Order: sequence, then C-alpha cells, then structure tokens
Amino acid sequence: MSPPQIARVALDLPLRRLFDYRVPDGERLSASDIGYRVLVPFGRQRKVGLLVELSSGSDLPPEQLKALDSVLRELPPLPADWFRLTEFCADYYHAPLGQVMLSTLPAGLRAVAPVKRRPPRRGPPAAAQRSPELTAEQQASLAAIGAAGAGFHAYLLHGITGSGKTEIYLRLIERALAGGQQALLLVPEINLTPQLEARVAARFPDAGLVSLHSELGDAARSRNWRAALTGEARIVLGTRLAIFTPLPDLGLIIVDEEHDVSFKQQDGIRYSARDLAVFRARQRAIPIVLGSATPSLESWANATATAGRGRYQLLSLRERAVRGARLPTVQCIDTRLDKPQDGLSSALLRAIDERLARAEQSLLFLNRRGYAPVLACAACGWTSHCHRCAANLVLHLADRCLRCHHCGFEARVPRACPTCGNQDLSAFGRGTQRLEAVIAGHFPQARVLRVDRDAASSRKQWEALVARIHSGDADILVGTQMLAKGHDFPKLTLVGAIAPDAALFAADWRAPERLFAQLMQVAGRAGRAERPGEFLIQTQFPEHPLYAALVRHDFPSFAATQLEERQQAGFPPYAHQAMLRAEAPQMATALGFLRSARACASVAAANSVVFYDPVPMRLARRASLERGQLLVESPSRRALQRFLAAWMPELETIKSPSRLRWHLEVDPLEF
Ligand code: ADP
Ligand code: ZN
Ligand code: ZN
Repeated sequence: MSPPQIARVALDLPLRRLFDYRVPDGERLSASDIGYRVLVPFGRQRKVGLLVELSSGSDLPPEQLKALDSVLRELPPLPADWFRLTEFCADYYHAPLGQVMLSTLPAGLRAVAPVKRRPPRRGPPAAAQRSPELTAEQQASLAAIGAAGAGFHAYLLHGITGSGKTEIYLRLIERALAGGQQALLLVPEINLTPQLEARVAARFPDAGLVSLHSELGDAARSRNWRAALTGEARIVLGTRLAIFTPLPDLGLIIVDEEHDVSFKQQDGIRYSARDLAVFRARQRAIPIVLGSATPSLESWANATATAGRGRYQLLSLRERAVRGARLPTVQCIDTRLDKPQDGLSSALLRAIDERLARAEQSLLFLNRRGYAPVLACAACGWTSHCHRCAANLVLHLADRCLRCHHCGFEARVPRACPTCGNQDLSAFGRGTQRLEAVIAGHFPQARVLRVDRDAASSRKQWEALVARIHSGDADILVGTQMLAKGHDFPKLTLVGAIAPDAALFAADWRAPERLFAQLMQVAGRAGRAERPGEFLIQTQFPEHPLYAALVRHDFPSFAATQLEERQQAGFPPYAHQAMLRAEAPQMATALGFLRSARACASVAAANSVVFYDPVPMRLARRASLERGQLLVESPSRRALQRFLAAWMPELETIKSPSRLRWHLEVDPLEF
C-alpha cells in the first residue's frame, strides 16, 4: 500500500500557516497538480484554496485530517514564479501567506461556485498604428537597454513630461512581443489613463491587450486574469494589483510614474507594487523599466552615482519629443507684493485674461476639494467638526452638505449655528468649488469647468470631462492633482498653482518630494503642442530652493538636496522603517498595546533596530477610533526584516481587548 498523501493548502485566513488535507482514497496527486485551486471543507463551510505542497505526512493525527473535496482543473495551475512572488510578498510584508495568495486572485476565482468559461472578447482586427521616428535621446536609451542583453536589469527612465517615455515603453513591448514574451505595464491609476490604454491597443491590435484594475467588474477581471494565465493576452496593463497577474511568458515589466504613492496599497496587505515589480523582474531574470519625470528619491538614489549605489541604470530624456515643443516657463508670483484677492493675484488674473483673448485654455491647480475646509460661527466659536474624527467637516456647497473627507460622514449645511443660533456662518479657507465660483465672478463670459473627485467620481464622468476639455468646450479649468497626470490638452497654455506653500513646511518630511512632483506634473500640462506654455506659482516664498529648482526644471539638483538632507537626518532611503499602528475606542488602549509591543521587542533580535516612542497618529481619531503608532527603524534592511520576523509572532501573543486592531506596515510612506 502506498503511503498516505497529504495536500498542503493555502486558505484566505489570517493565520501564518498552511492547512493539511488528506487526498481522498483512490486518488493520487502529482507535482503537476501543485498550483491548482482546490475545494476543501472548513468548519461547516467549504472554501477555495490553493494546493501549495504535497507531502507524505502531517503533524496532525490521521483521524483529525479531513479529506479535500476536489481539485479544480478548469484553469491552468498557477506557475512556480507566481508562488515565489506571493511568498516573497508574505515574507517581506509579514502577512499571512494564504491571505496574500488568495486575496490577489479575482473574486470570481475565489468563490466556491464553478468558474464559467468566460469567452475572450476581441474587438475587430485593426491595423497597427505606425510608430514615429525616434529622437536621438530615445534611440540612445533603447540602445542602452538593448546592449545590456538578457537577464535582470533595472532601468530608471527619467524623462521630462512629453519627452517620449511612453514611446520607449511601446518599443520595448514590441521587442518583447517579437521574442514571444508577455509584457506587464503598471500605471498608477487606470481611471486617469484611458489614453494610454488606447495608445497601446492601437499599436498592438493583435496582442490581446487586457487591463486589470479595481474598477473592472468581477466577470471582466476574472476573464482578463485568465487570459494572462493562459497566455492569450500578451500585454497586461494594470494598476498595483496587476503585479500579481500570473504571466507564464513574462519578459518585460514597466512601471510608469514609478514615484506615485498609489503603487502602495494602504490597507489590508500593505505592499508596494513597484518594489514587488523589481523583485519579480530579478527573480524572472528579465528587464524592468521604472519611468518618471520626478522619480521617487528611493529610486533616484538607486540610480545615481552620488549615492554610490548604481543598482539601477539611469537613462535620461531632457527634451520634448515633438520637434519645437518647449517646456513651459516657470515663474513665481510673490504674494507678499501682489496680494491675492479671493485667492487670485493680479498677475494671474492678467494671464488668464490674455488666454481668454487668444481663445486658449487656462488651468488653476488647487489640491483641495469642496468649497471651504471649515464652516464657523464668529459669534460663539463653533466650527464644523466631525464628531467621529479629529478633523473638520468640509463645506460642499455644490450639494449643500458638510462632509468628512476621512470617514465619509455627511450632514446638511445648518441654516444657523447649532450652538448659538447665529444665522451668519462663515466659510474659512478655499477649495476648488469656491475657486470655481470666484473665477466665474471674475470672468462671466468664460466657460469654467471644475475637475476633481467630486465632479469625476467614476471613469465615465472622468472621460466625459476629458472629452469636453479636448473639444475646447471649456476656457478655464479648476482642478486638483487629478488633472495633473498624463494628459495632452493642446489648447492649454497657462497653469497657475494657487496655494502650494503649505506643503513646504508640512510635518511630513516627504511633503516637499510630493509637492515637487505634483507641480512638475501639472506644469507639464501647459504647452505640449506647438504653443509654448506658462506656469505661474503664487507663493510667499519665491526664493525657496524647491521653487528655484522648479523654475530651472532641475529635478536632479532638487533630488540631490533632498537626499543630502535625508542622509543627515537618517531618513529613508538611508534608513529602513516599519510602522506598527493600533486603533481602539480609547487612545490609552492603543498606546498601551504599542508599549507592550515595544516591551516584548527587547529580544536579542532588536540589535541595530531603533524604537521611537508610541505616539498618537496625526489624525488621532478616525471613524470613532483613536489611533497610535510606533515607528521602528534600522540602517540595515536585513536587520529590520530579521527583527520583524521575530517580533510578529510575539505581537500576536499580546493580550489585548477585542476592540483593538493593529497592523504592521513595512516601508511606510505616510505618517
Ligand atoms: P511622455 O510619456 O514622456 O510624457 P510621450 O511618449 O507621451 O511622452 O510623448 C509625448 C508626445 O510626443 C506624444 O504626443 C507622442 O506621440 C510624441 N512623440 C513621442 N516620441 C516621438 C518621436 N520620436 N517623434 C515625434 N513625436 C513623438
Ligand atoms: Zn454660534
Ligand atoms: Zn469623520
């Protein structure tokens, strides 16, 4: 008689282990079954899991082992390199393996109901769009990548907006396809990039391009994912979750706008899709290209000699690709001299006026939605405060409500002060809705269009707004950073930044990096075609080095200064961090847990790891829960990882009240 066969199965549970099941009598599984989904009994339910290993023994006594129900073979098994990727993700972010594996599958494939054979959808065959002749800089970049040959190579493609980075991606994809490989193109927000999708599809009409992002319905997501796994789809375009797509012939990974924070998942398993992409490329021994006009300082340090690292090869595009197209001129308006009225300086008003006279478009950038950040009563001092969060309710006049941007709480705008009855409430500060109203007052003849998450909450609405801007059916755009990304608006020749100064002195030391990227990106919207653009920044600090670098379009010098400051302060990328956060109805409970966590960290593993004090988070209360954080840091990534691996099991044994929740984030971006 052959020995019993045990199937080790990953299940979507918050437990750091696999689950053993007996292979039913009369059935024999082989190594080629590993990677199939399996149906197993669990308590009174049945669950879909993944077959990870086969073994001949189990730690459980035989009478406690249940038999698995069935092996689901409608889909090909998940390939070995997909297992390595999810295992690495679970290790590095200290998340339960089963949860990582199962939560990255489309919902339809996690359900107990059988998978329908969801047929692939193909549009009618189209003629491939011709590619332009490359500029000298593009040629040089492509030649450098070609010369490196096969194997793992990481490139940081630093190119100003409009320098033709996307064209380079397309040429690389072309090479990969010609070599029989699949290509994975990651973008920060697919919502904002229908243009890119159209562009890739037009260039490669026969490549079965599929997209993967959270706005897709379950059926479409399963269908596209399956097409990637079977190899029908040769190109996958997706947001961060697409990093987990199984791609048997993967030969190229591209991460566009690699600096964008949306590559970092902010809940559940807090992974960085960009960092996983680099791991995946190394493990598959293939090239990866990280592209940006304003790279993250982590990537920049990896690519520049000054930091002495050179892990990535730096490729630069300094000129715009379209002949004659120039970068916008950048100028600061000193608001100490030219005092803004209702947020607008006279110089900016004049510039808008000129554009109206020439039938060109202007864009005013204000990164704050709503009408005003707070409503207040001058008589008694009442302010619109969210009772669930340590934050103000934002006044939204467009739908006459007060809304919390943190927990979503909504209330009608009161007619009178809730405490003293005063009917004369005033709105403090300025959001996009108020700016829109002010602009409409100044320029009654102009068509003003507001573009923010309230005006474009779905992809459909967003596309309609973009189409309207393109058709020239708007003279002045008022928008948040939503407008900053990847759009060509040929008639747009003026961009004004209304109130960017706050980010210069924010407590978050990453704020300047983000501000520079945002301003550079929004400046890039001006004058993309044959018309030169102008970018005006309203500021009280025109001499600030950040603005000075922006005026010169000089990302490298900005990055060098920032990196120097970080090196002196011992901040990332010169240190590695992890953040333990806890939330509970009372702050004392949250901080108490963090103190216990720190106490049990006095294990030997804590060598070369620094602990900060447990403190309340900046937004100390959210949705009625009080939140605290404990930062741990080490100059060595490996030492930090070793410590976290020893610490996590100890954290799980800390006795804490049931209403306390905690999580660990590795490489946190937000504080
Ligand atoms: P980026 O991704 O760096 O913003 P794109 O690849 O989108 O730049 O290129 C910007 C514009 O220049 C696009 O309209 C594109 O079609 C055009 N373009 C790119 N490369 C070339 C080229 N070699 N010759 C002419 N036009 C080009
Ligand atoms: Zn009052
Ligand atoms: Zn709230």
